[in-house]
Amino acid sequence: MPPKKNNSIPIGFSNVGNSCYINSTAQALWHTPVIKQWFCTASMLKSIPDAQNDQAIAFSMMQDFLLLDAEEKKRSEENILCLSNTSKTIHTSKGKLPISGSNQEDAAEFLNMLLTSIQGLVAGVDVNIPMSSEGKALTFEDIFVGVWYKSSLCISCDELRIGPEPWTTLTVPVTEKTTLLESLASLVEPESFILENMLWCNKVQSKKDHIRYNSLGKAPQALIIHLNLFQSDFATGTTSKVNRTLDIPFDLNILHPCIGMTDVKKNYELRAFVEHRGNTLNDGHYVAYVRSGSDKWFLCNDDEITNMAKEEVSATLSQNSSTDNTPYLLFYQLEC
Ligand SMILES: [Zn+2]
Repeated sequence: MPPKKNNSIPIGFSNVGNSCYINSTAQALWHTPVIKQWFCTASMLKSIPDAQNDQAIAFSMMQDFLLLDAEEKKRSEENILCLSNTSKTIHTSKGKLPISGSNQEDAAEFLNMLLTSIQGLVAGVDVNIPMSSEGKALTFEDIFVGVWYKSSLCISCDELRIGPEPWTTLTVPVTEKTTLLESLASLVEPESFILENMLWCNKVQSKKDHIRYNSLGKAPQALIIHLNLFQSDFATGTTSKVNRTLDIPFDLNILHPCIGMTDVKKNYELRAFVEHRGNTLNDGHYVAYVRSGSDKWFLCNDDEITNMAKEEVSATLSQNSSTDNTPYLLFYQLEC
């Protein structure tokens, strides 16, 4: 066996004050190989335009990842980096971004903001990464964007309307389900729109009962799943955490009959996840579990990196885990 190299150990990110949501999300993105490849390619491109307003966050994350890439290549000992461009952009945004940086923020909201920002920044720019297995160039859309097909059937006139709906993270419910696959399946259960929820029918020119069927028309290379742990109570204006989780598999096959996918088999493997620790959205703490090298797992708690046995990671992903440490964002990648 060749000697173990230190560079499979992730580089820790220092916490610059409530920045664990940035650090853990960045670790998870960086340890999803297809995403890392995309960032490394995009960051080098001269054709990326100067960032405007809400694209600044994408631009600064790319700069930080460029530094991280250089650091990873040169280091011999484990070390620490500060994602200073990203945190500076957030801290100086003064209300121009949906998150402020001075508070603990929702990692899912940060991730969505980042992906939207990236999509805006690279619109019209070819950021294609070659995939070694098929030799096909992958675009932002191939890697990050999935599409729902939502078909609404009018009960009165049988008219079927099909609307594609793109997404970059898939939000799934955690209540009343025990496994991730069950929870995913619930997204394609037919929905009824009746009584006060009736939908407009163009043919009849009035509101009519409808049934909506959802199916996943396109699944991305990097499947990012957001477990909907936080539930808002609009009456009291508070958000509470659902302190339970699902059984989450390392290998996810979404050609489950219920998912409604009928094209090719999609086998995903878990590459990283962000865990929320604590009972509320606005305090608590985020950490990332990442897979690095050949099936080695690490816990990245800001600048503290800990080796994890796969059994320990597996226990964290189990529904029976009895702590308030809860997996929150899951990063799967299509097996090549
Ligand atoms: Zn109708």
